[in-house]
This record gives sequence, C-alpha cells and structure tokens, in this order.
Amino acid sequence: MNICFATSECVPFVKTGGLADVSGALPKALAQIGCNVKVFVPLYQSIHTDKYDLIFASDLYNTQIDADTYHRHFNTWYGKLPDSDVEVYFVDCPGYFHRSSTYTNDMDEGERFIFFNHAVFSIMQRYNWHPDIIHCNDWQTSLMPAMAKHRYNWDSLFQGTASVLSIHNIGYQGRYGQHYVHSAGLPQDFFYPGGPVEYHGSFSFMKTGVVFADAISTVSPTYAQEIQTPSFGEGLDGILRTRSQDVWGILNGIDTTDWNPSLDPHIASTFDASSLEKKLINKKAVVEEMGLPYREETPVIGIISRFANQKGFDLLKPVLENILYHHDVQFVVLGSGEQHIEDFFNWAHTAHPDRVGIYIGYNNGLAHRIEAGSDMFLMPSAYEPCGLNQMYSLNYGTVPIVHKIGGLADTVQDYHEHHGKGNGFSFYEFSPHVLRDTIVRALAVYHDKEAWNAIVQRGMAQDFTWENSANIYKELYEYAAGKV
Ligand code: ADP
Repeated sequence: MNICFATSECVPFVKTGGLADVSGALPKALAQIGCNVKVFVPLYQSIHTDKYDLIFASDLYNTQIDADTYHRHFNTWYGKLPDSDVEVYFVDCPGYFHRSSTYTNDMDEGERFIFFNHAVFSIMQRYNWHPDIIHCNDWQTSLMPAMAKHRYNWDSLFQGTASVLSIHNIGYQGRYGQHYVHSAGLPQDFFYPGGPVEYHGSFSFMKTGVVFADAISTVSPTYAQEIQTPSFGEGLDGILRTRSQDVWGILNGIDTTDWNPSLDPHIASTFDASSLEKKLINKKAVVEEMGLPYREETPVIGIISRFANQKGFDLLKPVLENILYHHDVQFVVLGSGEQHIEDFFNWAHTAHPDRVGIYIGYNNGLAHRIEAGSDMFLMPSAYEPCGLNQMYSLNYGTVPIVHKIGGLADTVQDYHEHHGKGNGFSFYEFSPHVLRDTIVRALAVYHDKEAWNAIVQRGMAQDFTWENSANIYKELYEYAAGKV
C-alpha cells in the first residue's frame, strides 16, 4: 500500500509540537508493517541540507506550479527518516519557506501551504508514483483531499486514491480569504454560506479537509468524541457529527528509545519494573538538582509543561497553599510560557523555597530526570488531544494525576481502593477543590506501599509503542480505500 504522508513538520528536521513527533515516528512504524510510505515536508530555512545528508533531486529541477493565480518554481530534496528506509521529500521554495519561523502571521500564510499541497501532487506526478492513500495532517495539508477529487482528478495517477485527514489540534483551522479557493484549484461555487469550504465568511482549510477526506482521525479515542461536541469542537463539531462514522480516534505512541527508564542517558540511575528501588536514586538527584532538601518519605509531584491556559494550572492556583499547609509533599516544576503561570510558580517557589522547586525554561534532560525522580505527575489540562507526558510517566513508574479528558482519559485509569485496579488518579469535574481532593487522595494512597507499588507496576506494564497505533492506522487506510 503506497502512502503519501504530507505534513508541515517532522522530527528530527523541524518541530513545533506533537505533529512533528507523529510524523517522525508513525511512517517508520507503518513501514515495518509493510506500507510503502513517502513523507513530504517543506524545506524551511531552519533545515540544513548538509546536516541531514539530503540529496538534491536534479531530475525534478525547477518544477513549476501553475496555480490559477500564481506561478512558482521549486526544487526537491530527499533523504530518509533516521534509522529507516522511509523516504522524505522536501519542497524547496525559498520565497515561501525561508522565513524566521515555521509558521508565520504573514499575509501569505495560507498561500504558502496551498503551494505546498500543490507541490506534493507535482512530485508524485513527476515520479509517476500512485498513492493508494493521501494522509494529510492538520490545516496545513488538509486541502489535499479536496484537491485530489476536484483539481487533480483529471490525472489517472490519482484514480482510486483515498484520503485520510488527521486532526492533531482542532484549535488551529487555517481560515483565510475566499480568493484562495481559486489558488487551491477548487470550484468557486464551493464557497457559499454554510457550503463545504466556507466557515463564518472565510475559506476554512480544516473544514474543507473534514468535508472531503474519506476518513478522519484524531489522536485519541476520547478526543475523537469530544471534538464532536460544542465544548471541544471549536465550531466544527456540527460538521464532524455529520461524518461521525468516519471519525476514528487513534492514540499516539511514544518513542520508547528516547523515553525508556532502563536506557535513559539523562537520568542518575537507570531502572525498570524489577528494580524500582533505584527510582529513589533518581528522586534524590532531581530533588537536589531543583534545590530542595531531600527526604525519602516525602512524596514528590512533577510538572513539565508548556504554560498555556490549556494546561489547567488555574486550578492549582487557589489550592496549592492549602495542599502545602496540610500535607507533606514537594513539587518540582519545569515549564515556560504565559506570564501569569510563570508568575504563579515563581511566587510558589519564593513562598515555599524548600517545597516547590522551579525551572522556568526548556530543558529536555531535566524533563527526563523529573519523570524518573518524581513519585507523581500532575496534568490538570482543560483539554488534551493526546498528551505525551502522562505516557512517559506511566513508563517511568511515576503515577499520573490527570483531568479525565481527551488522551488523558484514554491512558490513565483511576485507582480505586475496592477493586484494586487503576494506574493513576483522575478527576472529572474541572474545579480547584476537586483537583485538591484528587491530589490528597493520591498522597494518602502513597503511604500504603503495597497499593502504591501495584499502581506503579500496572502503569509500567502498559504498551504505548507506535506499533500498536500503526496497526490501527493501517485498518483506517483500508477503511478509507473501501470508500473510493
Ligand atoms: P503539548 O504538545 O500540548 O505541549 P504534550 O504532553 O503532548 O503537550 O507534549 C509535551 C512535550 O514537550 C513532552 O515531550 C514534554 O516533555 C515536552 N516539554 C514541554 N515543556 C517542556 C520544557 N519546559 N522542557 C522540556 N520539555 C518540555
């Protein structure tokens, strides 16, 4: 099965968020189960062709795109995803992609990605490579299903091609002016109030993808349901409900070569489920690294996060003082972002210098050490399409405390004393006192060593490898192919 995997970011070449991790890992896992995947990504200024040994495709020199409103040329480079045979094609058009950041607020932001979508079709045409599936991701490539059906349908190369749109975050939809309908090569009469490409007077790339893709996926089963509701759908819930049968939720995997406590080079002592006593060495190391006094019996709660409203720290603000007053607990916090959240953690550290250790900034090594050394990990997110840190925590024997939504609901099962199941603690009502009660519940169970150990072991036994997810994506491709 030939898969054209089009994406605006891909690890290790370019990353701003989780889409890059999926793009770097899923194609490799698909290749291992027999799919022939080619990845397509823009050649941003930040991607150095030397660093990745990319090869200039001289046979595609100066390919021309004749979109209806503009003419552009581009070159193509290619390479491979590390440790694999998966080919990656880079669309090289400095006029569009040599900007100071991956995404911009420039006037031509929509045009940049329309161009990229055209370029991906062109490369496939020039190589006479038939995709069984076009797998596009988020708004930047979500015009491809409509373009396959209405702009490139004259080309027999795309006969029988089905399309899949993956939504990684519905909060970003790519809404631009009506004139871009023409640039994308789509019929102008698709644009009318409530029509297939229109949303509140603008041309919505994401909506167009939702309407025209043969199947739609998002990054966890619960988020797949949530985006079909007004609370989480960001205005697209209605149109998604009309496609309800075709919306699949497939949990992201994690990179278990990078996030593996038995191999991790960043941590003080490697460990696994059979040597949990070594977790204490990591606990002592991280507590001291964060400038706090170490006491073995004091539970440590880790936080690693982008400080954005989405992440739910507004819930912690009114109750942290109360938790610290009544309970023996320490926090180790790593993150950066919105000022009011940084201010809150700075205040907490100043008020409780021996209870709250903070690092404001980005630090990958410290993120590994916090996962390895903490007893619990806090993620009170308001919404979370999938979430990675709770899966890393489970792998590292660190018990997650989460808001029961999105991917958090799919990966963390609440512990209950009576049935002796569960790998963490979760709460449903999004309110500060419920968060506090859940943390207090976890702190109480922590002192029951037998129960705690069982929770940790259940978490560490879980399998979050990409192999699982790739098998479900393959089923999704077969489902989509069955519709054309
Ligand atoms: P999101 O993609 O919404 O930021 P995820 O939980 O899906 O949230 O992924 C966050 C990723 O970024 C994790 O790998 C996490 O360890 C990492 N991360 C977030 N903030 C920091 C930071 N300040 N320093 C190091 N790593 C961070």
